[in-house]
Formats: sequence, structure tokens, C-alpha cells
Amino acid sequence: MTTRTSTCPCKSVEIEVTGTDKGAVLCHCSNCQAQSGSAFMHNHRLTKSDMKFTRGQDFVKTYVDKNTKSGNELTRGFCSNCGSSLFLTNPAFKGLTILTAGTMNGERTQPSMELFPESKYQWVGDVTGKSSKL
Ligand SMILES: [Zn+2]
Ligand SMILES: [Zn+2]
Repeated sequence: MTTRTSTCPCKSVEIEVTGTDKGAVLCHCSNCQAQSGSAFMHNHRLTKSDMKFTRGQDFVKTYVDKNTKSGNELTRGFCSNCGSSLFLTNPAFKGLTILTAGTMNGERTQPSMELFPESKYQWVGDVTGKSSKL
């Protein structure tokens, strides 16, 4: 079991997630590109996890993303004060918490896999050498 914490840049929200550390992946799906405002999302996965808001739960807003490539409904959590993405959960995978690597405290590990490589921007280099559809 690992415990990881995340804090958004305005420091309103702090999250603590305890679970089995499954490492990081990159997601190149168009929704992750749009939500991150960037080329891809760097997501860190914990399974059998328990998420607690240790600060600022009132600032947390969620967006239920129903239009995903996988067909799974994703809940995308973000800070309503600074707008930063904080976490994703997927009701199809109970106990899975995905933390956005950029808001995590401590080590941000190199991704082991890249999801949805078909929508990867052409100029993004090979990060992991491994592609997967999920
Ligand atoms: Zn994605
Ligand atoms: Zn914030």
C-alpha cells in the first residue's frame, strides 16, 4: 500500500490517496488533451484505493465525462478556485483513483504506457515505447 498526496497550485485542495501503486500512464485521448489544455495527460493510477480530501473539499468540483473513447464514464475532479485537474475516477473500475501527476507531491514516475496513441500529436516523441488501448 502506498499513500500519495496531491495539492493544487492555489493550495485550496489537498487529497490523500492510499492504495496499490500502479504507476503512471500517458493519456493521448482528445478529452484529456482538452481538459489538460496540453498535448496529453500524465496520470498516476492507484487501485484498491481510498481517496480522502484532507483540505478544501468544498473547492472540489467534478465533471462527468460521458463522451469518452473507451465508452466508460469518467469523473474528472478539479479545483474550482484555480481550475487545476486533480483526479479521475471510473465507475467501471471500482477502487481506481487516477491522480494527475502534475499536482502530486513527491516523485512523479515515468509513464509505463501510452493510451490512445492514435490521437497522439505527431510531434510528441516516444515516451515509453509501449502503447496500449487500456
Ligand atoms: Zn484520456
Ligand atoms: Zn486550486
